[in-house]
Amino acid sequence: MVKETAYYDILCVKPTANNDELKKAYRKLALKYHPDKNPNEGERFKNISQAYEVLSNPEKRKLYDAAGEQGIKEGGTGGGGGGFSSPMDIFDMFFGGGMGRGRQREKKVKDVIHQMSVSLEELYNGTLRKLALQKHVICSKCEGQGGKKPPEKCPTCRGTGMQVRIQQLGPGMVSQVQSMCGDCRGQGERINPKDRCKTCEGRKVVKDRKILEVHVDKGMEDGQKVVFAGEGDQEPGLEPGDIIIVLDEKEHDVFRRVGNDLTMQMHISLVEAICGFNRPIKTLEENRTIVITTIPGEVIRNAEVKCVLGEGMPQYKNPFEKGRLLVQFMVDFPDKIPLDHIPQLEKILPPRSEIIIPDDSEECQLVELDRSQRRRQNNSMYDEDDDEGPGGRQHVQCQAS
Ligand SMILES: [Zn+2]
Ligand SMILES: [Zn+2]
Repeated sequence: MVKETAYYDILCVKPTANNDELKKAYRKLALKYHPDKNPNEGERFKNISQAYEVLSNPEKRKLYDAAGEQGIKEGGTGGGGGGFSSPMDIFDMFFGGGMGRGRQREKKVKDVIHQMSVSLEELYNGTLRKLALQKHVICSKCEGQGGKKPPEKCPTCRGTGMQVRIQQLGPGMVSQVQSMCGDCRGQGERINPKDRCKTCEGRKVVKDRKILEVHVDKGMEDGQKVVFAGEGDQEPGLEPGDIIIVLDEKEHDVFRRVGNDLTMQMHISLVEAICGFNRPIKTLEENRTIVITTIPGEVIRNAEVKCVLGEGMPQYKNPFEKGRLLVQFMVDFPDKIPLDHIPQLEKILPPRSEIIIPDDSEECQLVELDRSQRRRQNNSMYDEDDDEGPGGRQHVQCQAS
């Protein structure tokens, strides 16, 4: 058991979440609460970053699970100190640090990252999505000059960008206070109001609506980036930024993706488990249904997993290669058997093995197991899909907030 769950709660994941789940949670939340998009959620953005920084580091996570936030602050013995990195550094590292341009970044306008929600069907079949975005482009009327004439030295600050005020502190005592020049916003130059470009009002850039065509290729995956180089905001004298679209896979009602495999759960009745069945499965391809059939005489055990080759996700860039479809069968046993059926069943089913009961044994009664205990022992690969499981409920809660 973990000591505290606060960091897990911030990221809306269960304490059992694996690395991929942590990454996905961070990606979603960090993009949502990034100061560019949500300027008032700075504190939240910081908390998301700190929680991810700790939980994504195996040593720090271990320390947190054992000793909580206090343990992280104290730094522990082996675990890399108690300080946190800046949320922006974590963000840049996660999303590829300005695409690795390092020092050149100052000459380039900041990239814009957007999330685009895609269904599993779209990732399977591929699709073309149109995305309308607003961006800043250089004003074509003044070609980014901001006015008819080139800018002149700001008369208020004489081009220094700073204003100096003399402050009287007392008799014979003055001090100089420097502040940014308000007339040119520290630029040192300004455009004479009468020469100002009417189109951009001297701002040099105007807002433009841009339609991006995002090609979602077959087999692309959650978190994959589609980069539109140079399609981001423009600013005079700088290289335009990129627009980066991050794919965000929506949960599917039936299938879950694991690499190129798809997994699903199928409930079958006891008679089907023992006597066989045919079952249709609607695939992710439009209007295509496959049928799975048991071999006569085979018995399907509860929670058994079988697979269909070639019915998983297409491989990215090699879409004719497909993964597997893993089906886990959940056998629905009848709640009760009518007493008069038992002798018939005993005749048909394999006989009980002989059990010797010692003479001095005591008779005990079997009672229902506590539900929560039973769940912990349930070793199903679909634990998370359990509607009443802690994860399921928590997830919904987080999305609603
Ligand atoms: Zn203009
Ligand atoms: Zn000025």
